[in-house]
Amino acid sequence: MGPGRERTRREVLSAAGGIGGALALGAVAPAAVAAADTRRSVAVLGGGVSGLSAAHELAERGYAVTVYEYYGRLGGKARSMDVPGSAAGGRAPLPGEHGFRFFPGFYRNLPDTLRRIPFPGNPDGVHGNLRSGTETRLARSGGRPDVTLPFHALTSPPAAGDLSVEALRKLIAGGLDTALHLPADEVAYFADRVLVHLTSCDRRRDEQWEKVPWWDFIKAGRMSYDYQRLLGVGLTRDLVATKAEQASTRTVARTIIEAWLLNGILGRGTDGDLDRVLNAPTSEAWIDPWEQHLRALGVRFELGTEVRQVVYEGGRITGVRVAASDGSGAERTVTADHYLSALPVEHARPTWGPALRAADPQLAACDALNTDWMVGVQFYLRRRPRIAHGHAIYPDSPWSLTTIDQAQFWDHRDFPADYGDGRAVDCLSVCVSEWNQPGILYGRTAKQCTREQVVAETWAQLKAALNDTGEEVLSDGDLHTWFMDPAVTGLGGSAPANREQLLIHPAGTLYHRPSAATRVPNFFLAGDYVRTDVDLATMEGANESARRAVNALLDADGSPEPRCRVWTLFRAPELTALQRVDDVRYRLGLPNTFDLG
Ligand SMILES: Cc1cc2nc3c(=O)[nH]c(=O)nc-3n(C[C@H](O)[C@H](O)[C@H](O)COP(=O)(O)OP(=O)(O)OC[C@H]3O[C@@H](n4cnc5c(N)ncnc54)[C@H](O)[C@@H]3O)c2cc1C
Repeated sequence: MGPGRERTRREVLSAAGGIGGALALGAVAPAAVAAADTRRSVAVLGGGVSGLSAAHELAERGYAVTVYEYYGRLGGKARSMDVPGSAAGGRAPLPGEHGFRFFPGFYRNLPDTLRRIPFPGNPDGVHGNLRSGTETRLARSGGRPDVTLPFHALTSPPAAGDLSVEALRKLIAGGLDTALHLPADEVAYFADRVLVHLTSCDRRRDEQWEKVPWWDFIKAGRMSYDYQRLLGVGLTRDLVATKAEQASTRTVARTIIEAWLLNGILGRGTDGDLDRVLNAPTSEAWIDPWEQHLRALGVRFELGTEVRQVVYEGGRITGVRVAASDGSGAERTVTADHYLSALPVEHARPTWGPALRAADPQLAACDALNTDWMVGVQFYLRRRPRIAHGHAIYPDSPWSLTTIDQAQFWDHRDFPADYGDGRAVDCLSVCVSEWNQPGILYGRTAKQCTREQVVAETWAQLKAALNDTGEEVLSDGDLHTWFMDPAVTGLGGSAPANREQLLIHPAGTLYHRPSAATRVPNFFLAGDYVRTDVDLATMEGANESARRAVNALLDADGSPEPRCRVWTLFRAPELTALQRVDDVRYRLGLPNTFDLG
């Protein structure tokens, strides 16, 4: 260690043992890589969830994998970051992140990968580090009482095998009426709209509902403020950064409502509870053990390497132009038998030259995909806030905030003893999903604010929702320090920028998403923008896309290795008959039976 250099979180926790103690990274010798390596080689571009998932599957199938990653750390948007200058007394730096991580129960592909990453003391590997949140808080502003929804007591789910349309209608309407106190006619209308989608055939979902914005589908424009904020914005912008007025009905209804909420509450086709988080900062609980496992499988990592161009010649990819991401050193070409791009779409596009785009039109179609800002702010507190045992949503916050107080789930950690200078006892991790609406302190959008103003405004919006009914949940005196990903730059100036944007899902997005296989025989795509069944820019989508990309590569190679299993979203068998009827009606140009407009 250089003089005066702060030890990283990984170094401190490694020395301390416990959850991080097993992670003497680099100490594990790669599995015997023979001097004359005869394995087929794959260059994986990008070391986020999709790139690491692909590397994992490929290495298990005997491929020689090298991952090229821009940053010095793996994990992409999911990774943890050290808060610079925050450590004292031999502790690790405070743990920061781009935005908090949650693993809803309907994820199936990613949990399978988590189970296959060994973790000391956990028979089911990293999966054993997941913890369930038991409630969610809707923190209202303006003196309105907050609502805390205990997931398991939310409704009385119908018994399995008794999932009639009437039972579903009661479940949705009853849940909304009890939990959200919306006007009865609006509740009934919303329940019917959900039923329309649930009973729609695939063709109608893909061709009709994909083109309709969620806001219009649920007629939010004609409804009360609460309906708009809770069922319009609350199910879109607050969760996935897509504006309600634009979001694809197919994506919202199929993935967020059907897969996550309905099947989550009913416990059908799920891997676990509705709301799950890790029991330590993400890199400690997951990414670092993953890196260690992949190194043990023989995966090589070229960190701090920027991918600049995927070179296409004679109908194939012949190499990739890379350079050190800090600008040092010359550009060079790396080669492999296969190339698997796992860069986010906004970074992948510039690496595809005109000839490659011409070789597969679905690459050029990616120009129509959009990304937007969703960025976290972490507040380190001297007192635990106790907001909810799970996530909190702030439906009235102009910047669409969601939070989680993390230390309560970090049962392998003693926050003040392990992190920072010992005075911070918790990290309140906030996601800011709306960067284009004026806030309440400065009347400016987040993009117009300086970094400090974004933080002050976020804090003010939290307090407006949490401290407005008598109890002081957040106090200025409790605020120790804060952190925001340095990938966001230029705030307050004329050119604010964010290197880590998120794919959004406006109506029609589905049609522009590419498949994992391309028309170029040795080029494959992974990433949360690639077409997957889960159809939502998430870590689950990233993992599913990697499985599909690896399967396409195995096919191209004529490999005898078993294909990666790909889980698709659970489909209620009780609805199949109605969906078949709807298929006939759709072909005849008729509306869905339940669609009364
Ligand atoms: C604030 C926020 C909160 C989120 N919360 C959740 C959540 O709770 N649950 C959930 O499931 N999903 C969540 N998501 C979505 C999730 O983070 C992403 O969908 C997922 O991490 C995408 O993984 P990826 O591998 O496709 O891309 P990335 O994570 O972006 O990884 C791509 C990698 O490629 C690297 N790279 C980029 N350009 C280059 C280049 N030119 N050369 C070399 N390397 C390059 C990047 O550095 C990065 O490491 C959240 C997203 C945001 C923005």
